[in-house]
Amino acid sequence: MHQPISATLRDQTLELLASGAATNRGDLVEALQVAPSTVTAVVRRLIEEGVLEEEGVGRSTGGRRPRILRLRDTDGVLAVAELGGRHARVGLCGPGGALRVSEEVPIEIGAGPKHIFDVVSETFDRLRESVAPGQPLLGAGVALPGPVEFPSGRIVGAARMPGWSSGDPAKILANSFGGLIAPVIVDNDAKAAALGEFATRDDEPGDMIYVKAGTGIGACLVTDGQIFRGGRGLSGDVTHVRVADSGERRCSCGGRGCLETVASGAALARQLAEQGAPDMSLNDIMVAVNDGDPAVVTAVRQAGRLLGVALSGLVNFLNPRAVVVGGALSSLDVYVAATRGMLYERCLPSMTQSLTIEASVAGPDAALVGLGRLLRSTVSS
Ligand SMILES: [Zn+2]
Repeated sequence: MHQPISATLRDQTLELLASGAATNRGDLVEALQVAPSTVTAVVRRLIEEGVLEEEGVGRSTGGRRPRILRLRDTDGVLAVAELGGRHARVGLCGPGGALRVSEEVPIEIGAGPKHIFDVVSETFDRLRESVAPGQPLLGAGVALPGPVEFPSGRIVGAARMPGWSSGDPAKILANSFGGLIAPVIVDNDAKAAALGEFATRDDEPGDMIYVKAGTGIGACLVTDGQIFRGGRGLSGDVTHVRVADSGERRCSCGGRGCLETVASGAALARQLAEQGAPDMSLNDIMVAVNDGDPAVVTAVRQAGRLLGVALSGLVNFLNPRAVVVGGALSSLDVYVAATRGMLYERCLPSMTQSLTIEASVAGPDAALVGLGRLLRSTVSS
């Protein structure tokens, strides 16, 4: 039987060794501030998993020099993908979780998991052929644009993903890789992106609320470097928070006045269509803002303000160090600035004094980077 070790401790240990901040058990005890017996348990487990090796085992009787711990150069790749409504971003991570390559392929999310995972695994095979030919697959992870129960990976009532609720995405994903036995993770896209954002930042962001604002809106709280998941793993569903001044429009969830109906890319497109500009894609909206189209800029600013309204309650409740806006809309300064302005207006000064509110730095690969991190901590030999 394995003694259970916490994912945080495992992750921190790997980080310390990878960065060179720790090279032996004594360093780890000091850096992690835990008992030597705890470090022994973590190190033993990582050695068993083949992730770590300890130099000088068997020669320990002679001197007092500590034995050096080293990460093993393992072969292999992790397959990662993030699905959107119309596109999938597919990538390849090394065994340590670092993203090596990524590309975008067109999909139609309504085609259902089997068809889409076949497209994803074909893309992945092609990437592997060009970047890491012959290397074994150590694990696979997919981020989905809807509420995902964790760790089961089942979709829970995603209105924008018809055909996904009945099956077991993790199983279908494994099958599309030819019955892969390695770990398979299915997670929500905002959660994966939040972890990717956290990992990408050089500074220590501390407790962070991450919002993914694209066609839809998702969010995640990262605390102590880990995703806060809640009871069923469904935390972060800010999109169905009811917002005042929202016009009480009916939402896909059956309620009225949800954030999704006023602050998402889909909501913006609908509002602009009602004002006589039909069929604007998210990309069209971004181009129009950059061109200074006054009607579009006004709509985007109002959407950002309403996002700020929905987040203000969370900020007052949680007192995070950072609010980070990611997703396609985060590239629009007017959207992020409006969110920031509303947070300053609605939150207690004591909360905003130590709060940073800014756009994501991780870019379009954020979710892939996050999936790599998640897989790194579950992959074992
Ligand atoms: Zn709703």
